[in-house]
Amino acid sequence: MKVLRAKSAGFCWGVERAINLARDETKAGRKAYADGPLIHNNQMMDALRKEGIREVGDYKSQSDIEVSEKDAEDGVVVVRAHGISPQRRQYLKSLDMSFKDATCPDVGIIAGKVRWHAQKGYDVVIFGDPDHPEAIGLLGYAGERGHVVQTKEDIDALPSFEGKVAMVSQSTMFSHEFEELAVYLSSKYPDLVVFDTVCGATKERQSDLQWLVDEGAEAVVVIGGRHSANTKKLAKLATTKNRPTFHVETAEELDLDAIQNYDVVGVTAGASTPDFIIDSVCEKLEKL
Ligand code: SF4
Repeated sequence: MKVLRAKSAGFCWGVERAINLARDETKAGRKAYADGPLIHNNQMMDALRKEGIREVGDYKSQSDIEVSEKDAEDGVVVVRAHGISPQRRQYLKSLDMSFKDATCPDVGIIAGKVRWHAQKGYDVVIFGDPDHPEAIGLLGYAGERGHVVQTKEDIDALPSFEGKVAMVSQSTMFSHEFEELAVYLSSKYPDLVVFDTVCGATKERQSDLQWLVDEGAEAVVVIGGRHSANTKKLAKLATTKNRPTFHVETAEELDLDAIQNYDVVGVTAGASTPDFIIDSVCEKLEKL
């Protein structure tokens, strides 16, 4: 079997940066507490726990954090790459612990656009998943003027805006869906200001999937957590390319009986999938 591995498979720079920042804290002898799972990958989280990086709070970064007084003494709370709302920032900074912000700079740019436009009186429409921590954080920067949408129906359900309107995207959404919704929203608000804020790393993963197909992949294996939004999106995108798609978290989950029917298999992975898992999946496939 020929195995094609997408160049972009695995950690994006924002996730890698967040992990390194948390690791720096533990290397300096502090206890690192990530505000929610630092990375949406169970295997990597297990590895990080062994290094002393613990998860507190919840997936959405909304619940209170409980760390004993003793642990807080040499503890540092780490903000994940997804970023947080200004309200959450205020809360985390009020804790009796050091504070480390590992928000991805690409998310920081989106937050800046949301805040600036909301302050200038724009209603801000965010294309994103309302349950995803990044969208929740961005919404916090818009105050009363923020609205999260995923579909045309969501746009239809928005209140009618009297003034100016701006639109951004959560960094990990599909570019083609963002463009489609931006066109739809601008048909209602011709002066709509649109910022395509799907990040470069996400776009690269989406275009590499097409590269796998163009290079002859007859089936696609997408590796990553089942709770990882960007991995799920990659798997969904792969199915739209009319290629049988296998979403696995680890090499052990590969359905070898089904996969061995193909001569060329493409492999890609979400932005939170560590290289050691991608390597093991590729090795197992190459042995077929
Ligand atoms: S997916 Fe993009 S925005 Fe999100 S952490 Fe990675 S590089 Fe940053």
